[in-house]
Amino acid sequence: MDEFSLIDQYFKQQRLARADVMLGIGDDAALLQVPTGQLLVAAVDTLVADVHFFPQADPYDIGYKALAVNLSDLAAMGAKPAWMTLALTLPNISNPWLKGFAAGLFALADEFRMQLVGGDTTQGHLTVTIQALGFVQDGKALKRSGAKAGDKIYVSGVLGDAGLGLQLALGRISLANEVKDYLLSKLNRPYPRVKLGILLGSYASAAIDISDGLMADLQHLIKASKVGAKIFCESLPFSMPLKKSVSYEESCVLALTAGDDYELCFTVPPQKEQQLLDQLRQAGMVAYCIGEITSGNVLDLQGFSGNLSQYGYKHFT
Ligand code: ADP
Ligand code: MG
Repeated sequence: MDEFSLIDQYFKQQRLARADVMLGIGDDAALLQVPTGQLLVAAVDTLVADVHFFPQADPYDIGYKALAVNLSDLAAMGAKPAWMTLALTLPNISNPWLKGFAAGLFALADEFRMQLVGGDTTQGHLTVTIQALGFVQDGKALKRSGAKAGDKIYVSGVLGDAGLGLQLALGRISLANEVKDYLLSKLNRPYPRVKLGILLGSYASAAIDISDGLMADLQHLIKASKVGAKIFCESLPFSMPLKKSVSYEESCVLALTAGDDYELCFTVPPQKEQQLLDQLRQAGMVAYCIGEITSGNVLDLQGFSGNLSQYGYKHFT
Protein backbone atom coordinates (compact mmCIF):
# COMPACT_ATOMS: atom_id res chain seq x y z
CA MET A 1 0.00 0.00 0.00
CA ASP A 2 1.35 3.44 -0.87
CA GLU A 3 0.57 6.90 0.51
CA PHE A 4 -2.28 7.50 -1.97
CA SER A 5 -4.21 4.28 -1.46
CA LEU A 6 -3.80 4.82 2.29
CA ILE A 7 -5.45 8.25 2.01
CA ASP A 8 -8.26 6.82 -0.18
CA GLN A 9 -8.92 3.90 2.12
CA TYR A 10 -8.80 5.60 5.49
CA PHE A 11 -9.19 9.35 5.17
CA LYS A 12 -11.45 9.93 2.16
CA GLN A 13 -14.29 7.87 3.59
CA GLN A 14 -15.73 10.22 6.21
CA ARG A 15 -19.54 10.09 6.06
CA LEU A 16 -19.97 13.79 6.90
CA ALA A 17 -19.99 16.05 3.82
CA ARG A 18 -20.43 19.74 4.65
CA ALA A 19 -22.00 22.11 2.12
CA ASP A 20 -19.29 24.72 2.82
CA VAL A 21 -16.51 22.45 1.52
CA MET A 22 -16.12 23.52 -2.12
CA LEU A 23 -13.20 21.13 -2.62
CA GLY A 24 -11.91 18.60 -0.09
CA ILE A 25 -9.25 15.85 -0.14
CA GLY A 26 -7.63 15.19 -3.53
CA ASP A 27 -6.33 18.48 -4.91
CA ASP A 28 -3.31 20.55 -3.90
CA ALA A 29 -5.35 22.39 -1.29
CA ALA A 30 -8.91 22.58 -0.02
CA LEU A 31 -11.39 25.34 -0.92
CA LEU A 32 -13.60 26.37 1.97
CA GLN A 33 -16.46 28.84 2.34
CA VAL A 34 -16.28 30.98 5.51
CA PRO A 35 -19.74 32.40 6.38
CA THR A 36 -19.98 36.15 5.76
CA GLY A 37 -19.51 38.26 8.86
CA GLN A 38 -17.66 35.52 10.75
CA LEU A 39 -13.99 35.17 11.60
CA LEU A 40 -11.99 32.06 10.70
CA VAL A 41 -10.48 30.50 13.85
CA ALA A 42 -7.38 28.31 13.33
CA ALA A 43 -5.58 26.12 15.85
CA VAL A 44 -2.97 23.39 15.46
CA ASP A 45 -1.64 20.83 17.94
CA THR A 46 0.85 18.01 17.50
CA LEU A 47 0.98 14.75 19.43
CA VAL A 48 4.38 13.01 19.32
CA ALA A 49 4.77 9.34 20.26
CA ASP A 50 6.83 8.93 23.47
CA VAL A 51 6.16 12.58 24.38
CA HIS A 52 2.35 12.93 24.35
CA PHE A 53 1.29 9.29 24.18
CA PHE A 54 2.69 5.78 24.42
CA PRO A 55 3.44 4.40 20.93
CA GLN A 56 1.65 1.16 21.90
CA ALA A 57 -1.50 3.06 23.04
CA ASP A 58 -4.86 2.13 21.49
CA PRO A 59 -4.87 3.82 18.03
CA TYR A 60 -8.58 4.71 18.55
CA ASP A 61 -7.58 6.79 21.59
CA ILE A 62 -4.72 8.44 19.68
CA GLY A 63 -7.10 9.49 16.87
CA TYR A 64 -9.71 10.66 19.34
CA LYS A 65 -7.33 12.64 21.53
CA ALA A 66 -5.43 14.27 18.64
CA LEU A 67 -8.73 15.86 17.60
CA ALA A 68 -10.05 16.43 21.14
CA VAL A 69 -7.10 18.65 22.12
CA ASN A 70 -7.66 20.77 19.01
CA LEU A 71 -11.41 21.00 19.57
CA SER A 72 -10.58 22.12 23.10
CA ASP A 73 -8.58 25.03 21.65
CA LEU A 74 -11.53 26.02 19.46
CA ALA A 75 -13.82 25.73 22.50
CA ALA A 76 -11.52 28.04 24.47
CA MET A 77 -11.99 30.65 21.71
CA GLY A 78 -15.78 30.25 21.69
CA ALA A 79 -15.61 28.94 18.12
CA LYS A 80 -17.85 26.55 16.22
CA PRO A 81 -15.85 23.69 14.62
CA ALA A 82 -16.03 23.20 10.84
CA TRP A 83 -13.00 21.63 9.18
CA MET A 84 -9.66 19.98 9.93
CA THR A 85 -6.46 18.96 8.18
CA LEU A 86 -4.29 16.04 9.29
CA ALA A 87 -0.51 15.71 8.97
CA LEU A 88 0.37 12.13 9.80
CA THR A 89 3.89 10.74 10.14
CA LEU A 90 4.01 6.95 10.41
CA PRO A 91 7.00 4.63 10.98
CA ASN A 92 5.26 2.07 8.69
CA ILE A 93 1.82 1.26 7.29
CA SER A 94 -0.21 -0.90 9.68
CA ASN A 95 -3.80 -1.49 8.58
CA PRO A 96 -5.17 -2.35 12.04
CA TRP A 97 -3.52 0.78 13.45
CA LEU A 98 -4.90 3.05 10.70
CA LYS A 99 -8.37 1.52 11.03
CA GLY A 100 -8.45 2.18 14.79
CA PHE A 101 -6.96 5.65 14.41
CA ALA A 102 -9.50 6.70 11.74
CA ALA A 103 -12.39 5.27 13.82
CA GLY A 104 -11.41 7.35 16.89
CA LEU A 105 -10.76 10.46 14.83
CA PHE A 106 -14.04 10.31 12.89
CA ALA A 107 -16.19 9.37 15.91
CA LEU A 108 -15.37 12.74 17.46
CA ALA A 109 -15.25 14.62 14.13
CA ASP A 110 -18.75 13.47 13.16
CA GLU A 111 -20.12 14.38 16.60
CA PHE A 112 -18.92 17.98 16.13
CA ARG A 113 -19.70 18.11 12.37
CA MET A 114 -16.04 18.63 11.53
CA GLN A 115 -14.92 17.50 8.09
CA LEU A 116 -11.41 16.32 7.19
CA VAL A 117 -10.50 18.37 4.10
CA GLY A 118 -6.82 17.58 3.53
CA GLY A 119 -3.49 16.71 5.01
CA ASP A 120 -0.07 15.26 4.46
CA THR A 121 1.29 11.75 4.93
CA THR A 122 4.96 11.02 5.55
CA GLN A 123 7.21 8.31 6.95
CA GLY A 124 9.11 8.82 10.22
CA HIS A 125 8.64 8.82 14.00
CA LEU A 126 4.91 8.44 14.81
CA THR A 127 3.54 12.00 14.98
CA VAL A 128 -0.02 13.29 14.58
CA THR A 129 -0.71 16.94 13.78
CA ILE A 130 -4.26 18.22 13.40
CA GLN A 131 -5.20 21.69 12.34
CA ALA A 132 -8.69 22.62 13.50
CA LEU A 133 -10.65 25.33 11.73
CA GLY A 134 -13.87 26.94 12.88
CA PHE A 135 -15.83 30.19 12.97
CA VAL A 136 -16.74 32.77 15.51
CA GLN A 137 -18.94 35.83 15.20
CA ASP A 138 -16.82 38.98 15.24
CA GLY A 139 -16.86 40.29 18.83
CA LYS A 140 -17.84 36.94 20.39
CA ALA A 141 -14.37 35.36 20.46
CA LEU A 142 -13.04 34.42 23.91
CA LYS A 143 -9.50 35.59 24.53
CA ARG A 144 -7.00 35.15 27.35
CA SER A 145 -7.00 38.90 27.79
CA GLY A 146 -10.11 40.66 29.06
CA ALA A 147 -10.38 39.50 32.69
CA LYS A 148 -10.93 42.36 35.18
CA ALA A 149 -10.46 42.59 38.97
CA GLY A 150 -13.65 41.33 40.65
CA ASP A 151 -14.51 38.82 37.89
CA LYS A 152 -15.29 35.31 39.13
CA ILE A 153 -13.05 32.43 38.00
CA TYR A 154 -14.80 29.25 36.86
CA VAL A 155 -13.78 25.81 35.57
CA SER A 156 -16.01 23.63 33.40
CA GLY A 157 -15.51 20.31 35.18
CA VAL A 158 -13.60 18.23 37.71
CA LEU A 159 -9.80 18.52 37.72
CA GLY A 160 -6.94 16.13 38.42
CA ASP A 161 -8.42 12.92 36.96
CA ALA A 162 -6.20 12.90 33.88
CA GLY A 163 -3.14 13.58 36.04
CA LEU A 164 -3.88 10.56 38.21
CA GLY A 165 -4.74 8.57 35.06
CA LEU A 166 -1.23 9.33 33.82
CA GLN A 167 0.29 7.99 37.04
CA LEU A 168 -1.70 4.80 36.43
CA ALA A 169 -0.67 4.56 32.79
CA LEU A 170 2.98 4.96 33.83
CA GLY A 171 2.52 2.08 36.32
CA ARG A 172 3.46 4.28 39.28
CA ILE A 173 0.31 3.44 41.24
CA SER A 174 -2.31 0.72 41.20
CA LEU A 175 -6.01 1.17 41.95
CA ALA A 176 -9.26 -0.84 41.85
CA ASN A 177 -10.47 -1.67 38.34
CA GLU A 178 -13.53 0.57 38.10
CA VAL A 179 -11.56 3.58 39.37
CA LYS A 180 -8.73 2.71 37.00
CA ASP A 181 -11.03 2.52 33.95
CA TYR A 182 -12.62 5.86 34.80
CA LEU A 183 -9.27 7.65 35.29
CA LEU A 184 -7.70 6.17 32.14
CA SER A 185 -10.73 7.21 30.10
CA LYS A 186 -10.36 10.76 31.45
CA LEU A 187 -6.71 10.71 30.30
CA ASN A 188 -7.33 9.12 26.90
CA ARG A 189 -10.72 10.54 25.90
CA PRO A 190 -11.05 14.11 27.15
CA TYR A 191 -14.39 15.60 26.09
CA PRO A 192 -13.92 19.02 24.48
CA ARG A 193 -16.22 21.73 25.92
CA VAL A 194 -17.28 23.10 22.54
CA LYS A 195 -20.93 23.74 23.39
CA LEU A 196 -19.98 25.58 26.58
CA GLY A 197 -17.35 27.68 24.75
CA ILE A 198 -19.92 28.91 22.22
CA LEU A 199 -22.36 29.84 25.02
CA LEU A 200 -19.59 31.65 26.93
CA GLY A 201 -19.08 34.03 24.00
CA SER A 202 -21.93 36.14 25.42
CA TYR A 203 -20.82 36.02 29.08
CA ALA A 204 -17.12 35.35 29.74
CA SER A 205 -14.51 38.13 29.87
CA ALA A 206 -11.60 35.71 29.22
CA ALA A 207 -11.00 31.99 28.74
CA ILE A 208 -8.28 29.35 28.30
CA ASP A 209 -8.36 25.57 28.12
CA ILE A 210 -6.49 23.64 30.80
CA SER A 211 -3.91 21.51 29.02
CA ASP A 212 -0.85 22.05 31.23
CA GLY A 213 -2.47 22.26 34.68
CA LEU A 214 -4.63 24.98 36.24
CA MET A 215 -1.70 26.96 37.69
CA ALA A 216 0.25 27.15 34.44
CA ASP A 217 -2.78 27.95 32.30
CA LEU A 218 -4.32 30.47 34.69
CA GLN A 219 -0.90 32.20 34.81
CA HIS A 220 -1.17 32.66 31.03
CA LEU A 221 -4.65 34.15 31.40
CA ILE A 222 -3.75 36.61 34.17
CA LYS A 223 -0.57 37.66 32.37
CA ALA A 224 -2.52 38.36 29.15
CA SER A 225 -5.20 40.25 31.14
CA LYS A 226 -2.64 42.12 33.31
CA VAL A 227 -4.41 41.08 36.52
CA GLY A 228 -3.91 38.72 39.48
CA ALA A 229 -6.00 35.83 40.78
CA LYS A 230 -7.05 34.25 44.05
CA ILE A 231 -7.87 30.52 44.00
CA PHE A 232 -9.87 28.95 46.84
CA CYS A 233 -8.48 25.42 46.90
CA GLU A 234 -11.43 24.09 48.96
CA SER A 235 -13.62 25.00 45.95
CA LEU A 236 -11.64 22.96 43.40
CA PRO A 237 -13.99 20.31 41.97
CA PHE A 238 -12.81 16.68 42.31
CA SER A 239 -14.47 13.48 41.10
CA MET A 240 -15.49 10.77 43.57
CA PRO A 241 -12.91 8.32 42.13
CA LEU A 242 -10.16 10.93 42.67
CA LYS A 243 -11.31 11.69 46.23
CA LYS A 244 -11.42 7.97 47.04
CA SER A 245 -7.95 7.37 45.62
CA VAL A 246 -5.78 10.19 47.00
CA SER A 247 -5.68 12.67 49.87
CA TYR A 248 -7.08 16.24 49.67
CA GLU A 249 -3.51 17.62 49.39
CA GLU A 250 -2.66 15.25 46.53
CA SER A 251 -5.94 16.07 44.76
CA CYS A 252 -5.01 19.78 44.96
CA VAL A 253 -1.50 19.14 43.61
CA LEU A 254 -2.92 17.12 40.69
CA ALA A 255 -5.61 19.72 39.91
CA LEU A 256 -3.13 22.60 40.11
CA THR A 257 -0.14 21.13 38.30
CA ALA A 258 -1.07 18.05 36.24
CA GLY A 259 -2.16 18.57 32.65
CA ASP A 260 -4.49 16.84 30.21
CA ASP A 261 -7.85 17.66 31.83
CA TYR A 262 -8.94 19.87 28.89
CA GLU A 263 -11.58 21.68 30.90
CA LEU A 264 -12.14 25.37 30.24
CA CYS A 265 -11.07 27.99 32.77
CA PHE A 266 -12.98 31.25 32.28
CA THR A 267 -13.79 34.51 34.01
CA VAL A 268 -17.21 36.15 34.35
CA PRO A 269 -18.02 39.72 35.39
CA PRO A 270 -20.18 39.57 38.57
CA GLN A 271 -23.12 41.32 36.87
CA LYS A 272 -23.35 38.55 34.25
CA GLU A 273 -22.80 35.64 36.63
CA GLN A 274 -26.42 34.83 37.56
CA GLN A 275 -27.59 35.01 33.94
CA LEU A 276 -24.81 32.63 32.90
CA LEU A 277 -25.65 30.16 35.68
CA ASP A 278 -29.33 30.20 34.59
CA GLN A 279 -28.30 29.55 30.98
CA LEU A 280 -26.02 26.68 32.04
CA ARG A 281 -28.75 25.07 34.11
CA GLN A 282 -31.20 25.28 31.20
CA ALA A 283 -28.63 23.72 28.88
CA GLY A 284 -27.81 20.95 31.37
CA MET A 285 -24.19 22.07 31.78
CA VAL A 286 -22.14 22.67 34.93
CA ALA A 287 -19.34 25.01 35.95
CA TYR A 288 -17.62 25.53 39.29
CA CYS A 289 -16.54 28.86 40.79
CA ILE A 290 -12.97 28.42 42.10
CA GLY A 291 -11.81 31.96 42.75
CA GLU A 292 -11.68 35.61 41.82
CA ILE A 293 -9.62 37.94 39.66
CA THR A 294 -7.66 40.51 41.69
CA SER A 295 -5.75 43.68 40.87
CA GLY A 296 -1.98 43.22 40.90
CA ASN A 297 -0.28 40.36 39.09
CA VAL A 298 0.14 37.39 41.43
CA LEU A 299 -1.62 34.05 41.62
CA ASP A 300 -2.58 33.52 45.24
CA LEU A 301 -3.54 30.02 46.45
CA GLN A 302 -5.80 29.93 49.50
CA GLY A 303 -6.57 26.84 51.59
CA PHE A 304 -3.53 24.87 50.48
CA SER A 305 -0.19 24.63 52.26
CA GLY A 306 1.47 21.78 50.33
CA ASN A 307 4.48 21.96 48.07
CA LEU A 308 4.08 22.68 44.36
CA SER A 309 7.44 21.83 42.87
CA GLN A 310 6.34 21.72 39.24
CA TYR A 311 4.01 24.13 37.43
CA GLY A 312 2.86 22.15 34.41
CA TYR A 313 4.78 20.51 31.62
CA LYS A 314 7.20 22.55 29.50
CA HIS A 315 9.00 21.30 26.39
CA PHE A 316 12.78 21.96 26.10
CA THR A 317 13.35 22.07 29.86
P1 ADP B 1 0.72 17.38 -2.47
O1 ADP B 1 1.87 16.53 -2.93
O2 ADP B 1 0.11 18.23 -3.54
O3 ADP B 1 0.99 18.10 -1.22
P2 ADP B 1 -0.28 15.01 -1.32
O4 ADP B 1 0.19 13.96 -2.23
O5 ADP B 1 0.49 15.28 -0.07
O6 ADP B 1 -0.47 16.35 -2.15
O7 ADP B 1 -1.78 14.72 -0.91
C1 ADP B 1 -2.77 14.38 -1.86
C2 ADP B 1 -4.11 14.78 -1.34
O8 ADP B 1 -4.43 14.00 -0.20
C3 ADP B 1 -4.19 16.24 -0.91
O9 ADP B 1 -5.49 16.74 -1.20
C4 ADP B 1 -3.98 16.16 0.57
O10 ADP B 1 -4.63 17.24 1.23
C5 ADP B 1 -4.63 14.84 0.92
N1 ADP B 1 -3.99 14.16 2.07
C6 ADP B 1 -2.71 13.74 2.21
N2 ADP B 1 -2.50 13.14 3.39
C7 ADP B 1 -3.69 13.21 4.06
C8 ADP B 1 -4.14 12.79 5.33
N3 ADP B 1 -3.33 12.19 6.21
N4 ADP B 1 -5.42 13.04 5.67
C9 ADP B 1 -6.25 13.67 4.82
N5 ADP B 1 -5.91 14.08 3.60
C10 ADP B 1 -4.63 13.85 3.21
MG1 MG C 1 1.87 17.02 0.38
